[in-house]
Amino acid sequence: MSLVVVGTVAFDAIETPFGKTDKIVGGAATYSGTSASYFTKNIKLVSVVGDDFPVETIKRLNSHGISTEGLQIKQGQKTFFWSGRYHTDMNTRDTLDTQLNVLLDFDPVIPESYQDCQFLMLSNLMPQIQKKVLERMVNRPKLIVLDTMNFWMDTQWDALIDIIKMVDVLTVNDAEARQLTGEHSLVKAAQKILAMGPKYLVIKKGEHGALLFNKEQVFFAPALPLEDVFDPTGAGDTFAGGFIGYLAQTRDISFENMKRGIIYGSAMASFCVEKFGLERLINLTNKEIEERVQQFVDLVQFDIELV
Ligand code: AMP
Repeated sequence: MSLVVVGTVAFDAIETPFGKTDKIVGGAATYSGTSASYFTKNIKLVSVVGDDFPVETIKRLNSHGISTEGLQIKQGQKTFFWSGRYHTDMNTRDTLDTQLNVLLDFDPVIPESYQDCQFLMLSNLMPQIQKKVLERMVNRPKLIVLDTMNFWMDTQWDALIDIIKMVDVLTVNDAEARQLTGEHSLVKAAQKILAMGPKYLVIKKGEHGALLFNKEQVFFAPALPLEDVFDPTGAGDTFAGGFIGYLAQTRDISFENMKRGIIYGSAMASFCVEKFGLERLINLTNKEIEERVQQFVDLVQFDIELV
């Protein structure tokens, strides 16, 4: 059951109240792919980097079961760069710099070996490129999940609306859901987004958990109350990777199974924020993941007798 992950592979410079990094490896597809790799080993990456990108990182992705045949390395060009600063609440951040670099003329090529893809994760990237990837898949995958961010709402609105219409699941955060619809109420925003095309919508609310909607139902998953949140970068991508990775592993795309996917995604995101960048995410064990999922179960389980 193969999963194709498309999105940025990047350098990030991050500032949080706890510290500051120089350029470290990041990128939406790096986080999503690494997170999904704990659930399925048949992952195929589509992205682009410059010749400044470390070969060891590509090898590490490969060691996680991620094929990089669809990762283009552009000689003489620079990798996508993003820099952000978190506010003291760690739930909000300012983008300080976005340098598209290699993304500007990226023309994605889908290798023949990727064409059996059943699950497609369109992680954060230029909406036109996300669309090109989808159009270049010979068969429509069984499930297409799209993640995006405010940057593309500000700069490429029409192209973004175009791709939103084509996917099964959209994941955005609460501020992005409001920006997309002009509605403050997340329930009204969800109704408007579901009317645009996706059958399912996930609204991520950082430390306040996540909501899963379809037209008839809604499910809420908490975030784990953590003593220290060190760096939230990539938490949304890690969440999405865990969600689709779990669905690909279990081959079940029912609403009931999506609820479990949301919990696995939330568990993966809770690891991501514990250290800077990908540090915590690259060396997890299945036992750690299962124990964390159990913590989610314990957190919301209670007995009640209705009178
Ligand atoms: P998240 O914290 O889940 O929103 O993801 C942060 C990651 O997204 C970082 O590693 C960045 O490299 C990447 N990123 C930031 N801005 C963009 C953008 N406009 N398009 C695609 N990826 C981005």
